[in-house]
Amino acid sequence: MKKLAKSKLFEVWSIIAKEHELFVPVEQEGESVNFSLWQEGEHVNLDHLKTNVSPKQIVFPQTETYLKFKTTGKKLSLENVGGKQAPYVLFGVRPCDAQSFALIDNVFLTEPVDRFYEERRNKGILVSLACSNPEETCFCQAFGITPGEAPQGVDVATWDMGTFLLWKPQTAKGESLTNQLNGVLEEALAQDEQDCQELQQDIQQKLKDLPLAKIDPKQITGDLKEIFDAKIWDEYSSRCLGCGSCTYVCPTCHCYDIRDFDGGKAGERFRCWDSCMFSEFTLMAHGNPRKTQKEKFRQRFMHKLVYYPNNNEGVYACVGCGRCMDKCPVNMNIVKVIKKLGGEKA
Ligand code: SF4
Ligand code: SF4
Repeated sequence: MKKLAKSKLFEVWSIIAKEHELFVPVEQEGESVNFSLWQEGEHVNLDHLKTNVSPKQIVFPQTETYLKFKTTGKKLSLENVGGKQAPYVLFGVRPCDAQSFALIDNVFLTEPVDRFYEERRNKGILVSLACSNPEETCFCQAFGITPGEAPQGVDVATWDMGTFLLWKPQTAKGESLTNQLNGVLEEALAQDEQDCQELQQDIQQKLKDLPLAKIDPKQITGDLKEIFDAKIWDEYSSRCLGCGSCTYVCPTCHCYDIRDFDGGKAGERFRCWDSCMFSEFTLMAHGNPRKTQKEKFRQRFMHKLVYYPNNNEGVYACVGCGRCMDKCPVNMNIVKVIKKLGGEKA
């Protein structure tokens, strides 16, 4: 293991940024923190636990142009512009968000593979940061995530040890980044590793004391039809505004739409995030198979808590980040649904 003195973070980011695009959690106006491109002078905030929008936006951008087209007389010309990604480092990703990449990989990297997404994933190096202080709305442990550790797929795991980050490469990409930083990183001492183990135990203890410590999606049992027809969907969906905020901040939601912008003689084809909560989602030529907000609301939660695990060896399509709890304007969220469907055992 290595250690990275916090006083040397600027130096490390400068070195990384020479050969990579570097994305870090940056404090923006109004105190919201989001991953964005590092530049000298930015206020990087590694203490903030949850970015407003998840780092999913780096591997699966909110809008992405596929191709541009233009007409000259009767001639139409096309230019492929999608899927061109420079090597990048995503620095400071929390374990729940890192785990969400595995869920999206399962969708986009299974045949037929999404080549644009694949390009982004291949070009990226993921540096995680353990959560020393999980918050009231965190319940990642319900989905088998340990906030004091880095899930599989993370290239370098780090822990905040006060004056330095403990630095542990976990993959070949992580080793290569570590070698690049050899002049700045120091060797960790046995005592540092011991302190890190104590930090991890401390985090586990904090988790036990959180209000959502006992949330357990496995309490949702029973016949699929019964869950589908449960009364909860009428009751809970009646409050839903269909604003889609929950899906936009969610690290595991991955629905998108493909549209053309036609500017007359030139235009472009792009994809953009969509939301199952929107009224036009699934709208087809014959009409919309999910006409009511109840059907849309039910689909979102059935997908995350029932359909996805049924089709993926029990893995849920939620990582317990709690962003939907923070952002829903009518205080509706997946925790309420889990509690109700699970018979309020939590
Ligand atoms: S954030 Fe709340 S109101 Fe908006 S779509 Fe989601 S559940 Fe409905
Ligand atoms: S459903 Fe809510 S808690 Fe689960 S991953 Fe999405 S935003 Fe986070």
